[in-house]
Amino acid sequence: MKASNFFVSTYKEAPADAEVVSHQLMMRAGLIRRVSAGIYNYMPMGLRVLHKVERIVREEMNRAGAVEMAMPVVQPGELWQETGRFEKMGAELLRVKDRHDRDFVIQPTSEEVVTDVARNELRSYKQLPVNFYQIQTKFRDERRPRFGLMRGREFIMKDAYSFDKDPAAAQVSYQTMRQAYRQIFDRFGLRYRAVAADSGAIGGDLSEEFQVIAATGEDAIIYCPESDYAANIEKAEALPPAQARAQASAALTKTPTPSKSTCADVAQLLSVPLQKTVKSLVLATDSVDEVGEPAGVQVWLVLLRGDHDMNEVKVSKIQGLDAGFRFATETEIVAHFGARPGYLGPIGLKLPVKIVADREVAVMSDWICGANEADFHFTGVNWGRDLPEPDFVADVRNVVVGDRSPDGKGLLAIERGIEVGHIFYLGTKYSKAMNATFLDETGKPALFEMGCYGIGVSRLPAAAVEQNHDERGIIWPDAIAPFTLVICPIGMDRSEPVREAAQQLHAQLQSAGVDVILDDRGGRPGAMFADWELIGVPHRVVISERNLNEGQLEYQHRRQTESQKVALTDVDAFLR
Ligand code: ATP
Ligand code: MG
Ligand code: MG
Ligand code: MG
Repeated sequence: MKASNFFVSTYKEAPADAEVVSHQLMMRAGLIRRVSAGIYNYMPMGLRVLHKVERIVREEMNRAGAVEMAMPVVQPGELWQETGRFEKMGAELLRVKDRHDRDFVIQPTSEEVVTDVARNELRSYKQLPVNFYQIQTKFRDERRPRFGLMRGREFIMKDAYSFDKDPAAAQVSYQTMRQAYRQIFDRFGLRYRAVAADSGAIGGDLSEEFQVIAATGEDAIIYCPESDYAANIEKAEALPPAQARAQASAALTKTPTPSKSTCADVAQLLSVPLQKTVKSLVLATDSVDEVGEPAGVQVWLVLLRGDHDMNEVKVSKIQGLDAGFRFATETEIVAHFGARPGYLGPIGLKLPVKIVADREVAVMSDWICGANEADFHFTGVNWGRDLPEPDFVADVRNVVVGDRSPDGKGLLAIERGIEVGHIFYLGTKYSKAMNATFLDETGKPALFEMGCYGIGVSRLPAAAVEQNHDERGIIWPDAIAPFTLVICPIGMDRSEPVREAAQQLHAQLQSAGVDVILDDRGGRPGAMFADWELIGVPHRVVISERNLNEGQLEYQHRRQTESQKVALTDVDAFLR
């Protein structure tokens, strides 16, 4: 590829709405351009990255035995009515009507359509297992589209759906995908963690997220550095009730005096500034004890100042709690949260409870609360996250950083991640709702056992940039770089030897299968280097007359601070 035949468009400044570095750099490097909130053009440079991501995904999905198809972006409402999701899904589902006033949806995911395919096409157990996948445009009317491709409204997802004859076979399909996902994410060249995720109503351990580690990630991961225990915060909180209660009562005997040692953690993990104030919260618990009584929930409440100075802690009044900080089913707690912006209002809760926020609620997420001794606190407390939903219910997490990990091999730690993949065992949830059956070995109709497996194809590049950048721009891993190598000739328009050497090297590398671009735009060296550093091409070769006279060129990896001279005669071997 020659830059003169391509499209390079870089900016010095990022737009004001770009809050995170990946959004800023992807805009500045000309990879994406905004069309509307959460809706972007994938510009030529950005599209090359997406194609590389897709190619890796395709290769590994095919290798794992999945078969590619494509389902429509616009899907009939009737199918979504069969599972009840047409109504249930809420505002994220974009519903449209055609000229005959019929309902359609823009697919946010495709369980309904693929289950319809299965019930029409898969008649016998002999045709199973099958895993259909697509790489397709999705639309979710996200409440807060932000961070560029990270949380778009229109985005690209690889979604796969497995169909099996029984749970045991479905587990095999799940494990095959799990393995394929590891292979895929290994190939991207990113630091990631596979973490246990909540499998919701189905239970069991068959749901995992693939999280790219990055300080700006929206998710919190609880992990043990000494073992492979890792879970997202929702899953990690799900301690067995008895264990949680034992911990709770043990904690209650201690004086709730927050300790200084947690300040750094608190400060580090706070990502969302308090915007409004919370005046009151209704707390409800649905956890019950062995005899079916509502389980007691121990609560304490402290107010911390915005600068996280623990010396400023005040213990607020808690109304409606009986002795011992216990309350039963529903209690209103009047808490003077956030008297002014900058205050934190953490509340310590010892069991999984629901907070029903009924009045003014701040959008707060992943707060730390309940620090009542060194390294003893809760993380990931959320209030008001999905505010527009009428009867909003948020989870309160129940993880204690610094506790022993469930496998007993070490202590729990926390870090942030970006969810780039999610695999899930679905059981018969969809096949049952849609009456999707096949004939089993005995000739009787049986429901398909299903699994679903997503990868955020367009989120992935953003996650890669969050993890790999410096003050000059993006640093792509080779596997997903828009170009692997750029040739920067100096004075190409003036110097015949430079032009010749550049073109020759370009042709030579191209025929060797290197994804190379030759910058033949004739720009000044400084501007040319700045462009490619911003764009993040990992390998650069500079050709200048001076070096050519010595039979050399200059090579520099994007992560290196100095270039190195390479003899022209060695260049082929060196670059491969
Ligand atoms: P999130 O928790 O970030 O909202 P999700 O759990 O709703 O994601 P899934 O339904 O599991 O997403 O979809 C599979 C994958 O699609 C996710 O792992 C993520 O990588 C990607 N994805 C989901 N929503 C978006 C979005 N709004 N923009 C870009 N990618 C997304
Ligand atoms: Mg989501
Ligand atoms: Mg998620
Ligand atoms: Mg998910």
